[in-house]
Amino acid sequence: MALRNIREEGDSILLKKSRPVVDFDKRLHILLDDMRETLLQAGGVGLAAPQVGVLRRAVLVMDTNKEGLTDEEQIIELINPRIVESDGEQTGQEGCLSVPGVYGIVTRPEHVRVRAQDRFGNAFECEGTGLTARCFCHELDHLDGHLFTELAQRLLTEEELQEMSGEE
Ligand SMILES: [Zn+2]
Repeated sequence: MALRNIREEGDSILLKKSRPVVDFDKRLHILLDDMRETLLQAGGVGLAAPQVGVLRRAVLVMDTNKEGLTDEEQIIELINPRIVESDGEQTGQEGCLSVPGVYGIVTRPEHVRVRAQDRFGNAFECEGTGLTARCFCHELDHLDGHLFTELAQRLLTEEELQEMSGEE
């Protein structure tokens, strides 16, 4: 496994549409393993392949709704994911490993159900509420070249950011 560089806002690859994964081969597995290591090291809750410079429809989402799991065990690998059901609404803070130091207020569905394939090509469905639902939506947006800053009603101010870091 190896750490990959996380691309940051201003890099045009983040604005491009990713292509479907067709080969569930060793190369995909290496990409996913590297993405897992990169996500854990960065301390995020999700990572999409274009964020490490690969325009393929693959994302990782941490299922933070599941208690008693290690960070590593919370990671769900989603290949060619699509949202098949969404309901409710939540408005809250959102950030992105590709937009460091910036947080915004974004409205997302409260609950989503996602259909995807695993690293071997097997179809499965999973669902999430709250932060996990937010994360599914955020990561899937990356596959179509969208960043949360496009959706944010507003970005947090310097004071709000300081309050946030003070809480930690
Ligand atoms: Zn992001």
